[in-house]
Parts: sequence; structure tokens; C-alpha cells
Amino acid sequence: MKKSLIRKKKIFSYVSVFFICLIMVVAAVARCAFLIEGSYVEQLERNLADVAGQNAEALKSEISIRYDLLKSIACRFELEPDRRLENLYLFEPVSDSFHLKRIGFCDPDGTAHGTSGVDTNLKNREFFCKGMMGFPWISDILMDAMDENHEYVTVMSMPLFDNQGKVNGVAAITYSTEILSKELSRHSFEGNGNSIVFNNRGEVNITSNPQFINVADNIFNRLWDDMGNNFSSKYEMLNYLFRSEEKGQTTDKKIKVDGIEYYYHIMPVSFFDDSIEWYVLSTVPAVYLTQRFAYSRKHLYKMVIIVLAFGITSIIFLNVLKSRQRRNTYKLAYCSPVTGGANTDLFKQIVGANCYTGFIVYMNIDNFPYTSLAIGKKRSELLIQSIWKKLSWEEKIDEFFAHHANDAFYLYFDYTDKGKLEQRLLELRNIIHEAAMTEQISWISARFGVCRYGEGINIEECCRKSEIAVQGALQNITGIDYFDEERQKKQIESQDLEDKFKDALSREEFQIYFQPKYKTDTKIICGAEALVRWVKEDGTVVRPDQFIPLLERNGDITLLDEYIMEKVCSYQAQWLKEKRAVVPVSVNISKATLYSSKVVERYMEIIQKEDLPPYLIQLEVTETLATAGENISQLLNRFRRMGIRILMDDFGTGYTALSTLNLRCFDVLKVDKSLVDGMGTDYGRQLLENVIEMTKKLGYEITVEGVETEEQYESLKDTGCDNIQGFLFAKPMSSKEYSALQVIEPVGN
Ligand code: C2E
Ligand code: CA
Ligand code: CA
Repeated sequence: MKKSLIRKKKIFSYVSVFFICLIMVVAAVARCAFLIEGSYVEQLERNLADVAGQNAEALKSEISIRYDLLKSIACRFELEPDRRLENLYLFEPVSDSFHLKRIGFCDPDGTAHGTSGVDTNLKNREFFCKGMMGFPWISDILMDAMDENHEYVTVMSMPLFDNQGKVNGVAAITYSTEILSKELSRHSFEGNGNSIVFNNRGEVNITSNPQFINVADNIFNRLWDDMGNNFSSKYEMLNYLFRSEEKGQTTDKKIKVDGIEYYYHIMPVSFFDDSIEWYVLSTVPAVYLTQRFAYSRKHLYKMVIIVLAFGITSIIFLNVLKSRQRRNTYKLAYCSPVTGGANTDLFKQIVGANCYTGFIVYMNIDNFPYTSLAIGKKRSELLIQSIWKKLSWEEKIDEFFAHHANDAFYLYFDYTDKGKLEQRLLELRNIIHEAAMTEQISWISARFGVCRYGEGINIEECCRKSEIAVQGALQNITGIDYFDEERQKKQIESQDLEDKFKDALSREEFQIYFQPKYKTDTKIICGAEALVRWVKEDGTVVRPDQFIPLLERNGDITLLDEYIMEKVCSYQAQWLKEKRAVVPVSVNISKATLYSSKVVERYMEIIQKEDLPPYLIQLEVTETLATAGENISQLLNRFRRMGIRILMDDFGTGYTALSTLNLRCFDVLKVDKSLVDGMGTDYGRQLLENVIEMTKKLGYEITVEGVETEEQYESLKDTGCDNIQGFLFAKPMSSKEYSALQVIEPVGN
């Protein structure tokens, strides 16, 4: 359930990231398009301004050519005021070559004479009036009054002066509007551009395209028809029309004519010292820009799609790489390299984070190191894999298993009931056995160390404790053991002793106590047993049964035994020198020491080094040890041949006690305290009596250990036992106390 939630969250985050990216890309594209379109508009407006400027220049130059011509004509008329008519006909060829409609002059009464031969009175025309007032002039568009076609014409006029400087007529040239229209650039914007020239009342004098707007039309009226809705007055509209571009800003100037939108530019042009002001308007349909931009937009989108496709592919590729890397890292961190399943880290993480109660079990495969040796590394790995396969197949909803290392697994059970757990563990043990059988290995079984998981214990601690508990399971028939705090404490103490042993030995913390042995009949001291005591730096005394078993397990006992041997020999030698009544001292020798190489040589060397007669040292060997067989008996006999007596310790406790006697490598039997303790009953007393009688008959010397009471002593006196060692006569004592018991022989004796 958790996994699906995580997956849903993941998908949601992917989708949201995708949409955010998409929105950003769309916004970026829109912004890009906007900027490109803006730059197009800017460019277009610049071009429009250029076109309008060029037109204004062209117009100016056309006007100035005609003005110069008119000036020379006027000059001629002024020179010969009386021959104006004759001269007029002389100008006819000039009129043709300048593509003029006619050249003419007006008399002061307004009668117009033209090269075309028709005379009309034009006293009401503005060009005549202005001429008579002494100003040169260009007319707005006019209907030709001197031609029956009434073509649209433009008239340029100039006053004619007499000698006194008075105006006595007006010279004029008339030309068709079309001629000037031709001068307006028609081919701007691939033939889509229009240019017109209008006066300050909006009347169109020249047009490059009559379909856009014709001459004599009023551009202001036409615009008002289309754009009037947007303005409160014509004045406001004209303000809008003539507004100048703000510096550095695209003004996006548009007008509407006949429902079609145009970008435009207006350029003023003036003649004759600004007495005439016209305007050049250049336009291009807005749709022209859209068409041009559509092409770029197509390419922009193409590019964006390519970039997007490339980007998405890269992201997918990177993600695949990343997830593969993540999977590999996860595998390294959380998967067992042998089973491919969960490892300890994952186990601790999952159980630690999600579980609050239950049992943690450390499972060990029995004798796996030996199995591994027997079947080889590869097969033993296969065995672990088969076990894991079965285990993970069997894993239930309230369980979680992981492979720890080699033959060890961690198991978690969300149970509270111990009975249920034990039943399940036995089931698993059978499953593991079956798995091993599939690998043709029949001797495999499992052990379980259990620690209860819950409040007050964290996962790390719980795992560690379950691992400790499995040690107990090794000695347990059920193969299951629980972590026990007390036992653990002892184990820690033992470990502490083991760790400190070598240092303690070098610091000579081990002291020897002597427990005397007495002749049963005379109660005279006849020997002693050397017993070790560990006196720590702080004065606390550790008894041998607390540390000897530990040293026997790790092999360090050999060091201690040899140390005791050296010390005892040195004491004996010293007491000999002091001429004391030295009696033999028996030294305990453990199994590991007896098995160590050249033990006889090493021990004899110690004795010889002190120049000690060998009979003063005896060796105590445990009965169970002596059952080890021929080799040991040969070893012990070698000691005996060197003069060292061998004592069988704890006689009567091992079940092979009697058969041991067959080895014939002992001189003395030390009857164990347990037999003495049994003397309280008739049966016990008889048993001890018979044992002593029998062994005496076999020729052994008998020492009885652990005699504590007078009654015990009294009973033993009649059994024929030779020596007695027990608290009744003496407890183990320091070397100083013990040496005081030895009577110094009189000097010279
Ligand atoms: P053990 O060899 O059987 O030593 C006799 C034990 O019986 C001694 O205990 C001694 O103090 C105790 N004992 C003697 N008389 C009486 C008695 O009347 N009543 C009672 N209750 N106990 C009595 P200790 O000194 O604690 O030694 C325990 C064992 O530790 C020894 O048993 C021996 O197996 C081992 N041990 C002691 N010193 C050495 C040593 O230097 N080397 C080795 N390998 N083992 C040693
Ligand atoms: Ca002993
Ligand atoms: Ca003993």
C-alpha cells in the first residue's frame, strides 16, 4: 500500500514537472513570437517611414523641376509682356517634352491662354488669385476647366511682374495628376504598399493606387467612416493619426480603410517657404505582416519542436541513466550480494521505521563453516540461495526476512505470542532442511536467537541481542534461545576477564595459594595442592572457576599453567634452600596444556632450572582428560619416568572412571568431594568405602578431597585412604602462611 502511494506521488510529481515545463516552453515560445513580431512591426514601420520619405523627396524634386521650368517660362513672359500669346505657342514643344498638359498664362482679368489653344476665364481659381497676390502656388486637385474631358489636373502658377514690380498676369503649367502619381513608389512591400499625398484638409492630391483611395477623395472622411467608433471626435482621430513615435518605442500605428487594417507612416512635405503643406501617407496592409510573420513563426515552431524533442529525449535518457544508477546504488546498499534479497541495512531500516512490537530473530545455519569446507564455496553459496528462495517464498505479510552474512539471517515477526513464534520457527527450520535437501545436503538445520522488539529497545540493540542469544541456542535442544540480560552480563564479565588476562599475567596478578594435604592416620602434613587466585589491582579476588573455563576455551590456560609451574618450582627451590621440611606440591595441568607440543620437555626444563628433585612436583590431571587414550597415557608415563607423580583429579565424577584405571598412568587417585558429600547416607558411605578398598587393592595411593567435617574424617579413617585434603584441616592459604607450616630442620641435622 505504501509502495503504491509512493508511486502515485512520483507519477504526480512527474506530471506536474512535465506541465510546468510545457507551460514554461509555451510561454517562452509566445514571448519569442511576441518579440519577433515586435521586431517585425518595428522594421515595417521603419520601412514605411523610408518609403514615405522617399516619396516626399521624389515629390519635392518633381515640383522643383516644374517650378524651375515655370520660372524660366515666366521670365520669358515678363521680358515681352506684349508678345505673351506669340511666345506661348513657342512653348508648345516644351510642354510635350515635360509631359505637361499645357503651359499658359492668365491676364490680370483672369482670362487664361493655354498652349492647347482654349481660352477660359479662371479668375476664381485659387492659383490665379494667389498669383495675382504675388505668390507662387500649386493647386490641389482640380478638374481641368480647359479640356472637355475634365481630367484631374494640378496647376502650378507664378506671378508675372512688370517693370515696376507690379503683378500683371500669372504664368501657369498644368499637368495631369497621373504623372505625379507615377512618381510615387508603387512597388514597395512587394507591390502591397500604397502611398498618397493629401493636403491639410485631407483631400487626396496624388495616389499610387486609386483602389486604395482615389484623388479628390478625402482621406479624413474615409478614415472617420472606418474608425469613427473609436474616437469621440474627428479632432481626436486626427490627433491619433498624426501622433509622433515616442522615442525608442514601437508605436504599432494602424489605420482602417474600407474595413482593412493598414500600418502607416505620415511624412509632411512643404513647398514655397511652407506656404503649402502636404502630407505623404505610406501604408501597408496589416495582413502583409501576418503573412510574412507566419513564415517565420512556422520555422520558429519547427525549431521549438526540434529543441523540445531533443530536450525531452535527453531528459528521458538522463532519467533512465539516473534510475539505473539509483537502482545499482540501492542494490549495493540494500541487497545481499549472495541472495539478491534484502540485506541487514534494509532490514533495520524497514523494521526500525515501520514496526513497533514483535520479535527479532537471528537465524544461523548449523555447522555451516564445516559444511562450507566439505562442499566448497560455490555450492555453499548455492545452498544459501536455495534457502533464501524458500524463505522469501514462505514470508508472510507480518514477517520480514533479510540475509545478514554467510549463514546468518535476520527475521522479523510481528507476533506477541511466544508459542506462535516458536511454532513458526520450527516450521522454518523444516523449510530450510527441505531447501538443503534440494541441494543434496541432508545435515542442515537452523538455530534461532530471539530478542523481543518493542518499547525501550531500538532495532540495532535488538539485532545485536538476538545475535548473542543464538550462542545459547547452540547448546539448546530446541535450537531456540531468548536473549537473557543476566546471562549477557556474565558473558560480558567473562569477556572482560579474557581480555584482561595477558596484561594481568605480565603484572603478576596471579598468586598461588597452597592447600595442604595430611596423612589420614597421623594428621601430619604430607603435601599440598597449588591453587591459583587472581588478585586484581583493586584487591578483589577472582576464583579460578570464574576464569579457568574461559582460558581453557581460548587456549590461554597453557600460559597460566606454565606460569604456576614456574612459580611453584621457584617456591619449592627457595624453601629447600631455607632448609624447610619441603613436601611435594601438586600442580593442576589442563587438557590444552597437556596437548601442547613438547609439554614434557618444557615442564622438566622448568624443574631442572630450579635444580629441584622431581618428586617435589606432582601433576593433577582430570579423570575425563585421562580417558583421551593411548597418547595421553604415554605422555603421563614419560612424566612418571622422570620422577613426577601423576594424580587423577576429581576421581569418581566421570562415567569412564574405572576404565581409565586400565591406562595405568596414575599414581594417586584424588577422590572427588561429591563422593565425600554422599557419606551422609549408608549407601553413600558404603560406596566410598568400596571404591577406596577396590582402588587400594589395585595399588593406588588415595587422597580424599573436600573433607569438611569431623564425622567425615572419622568415617574415612577406617577406609584406608592415605591422605586427606579439606577445609577441616586447612583451607587454601598464601605462600607465606603455608611456608610457616613447614618446620625448619635443625641446623646440622
Ligand atoms: P580442584 O583441582 O578440584 O581443586 C580443589 C578445589 O576444591 C579448590 O577450589 C579448593 O579450594 C576446593 N576445596 C578443597 N577442600 C575443600 C572443602 O573442604 N570444601 C570445599 N567446599 N571446597 C574445597 P578452587 O581453588 O576454587 O579451585 C577450583 C578449580 O580450579 C580446581 O579444582 C581446579 O580444577 C582449578 N584450578 C585451580 N588452580 C588451577 C591451576 O593452577 N591450573 C589449572 N589448570 N586449574 C586450576
Ligand atoms: Ca586439583
Ligand atoms: Ca579436585
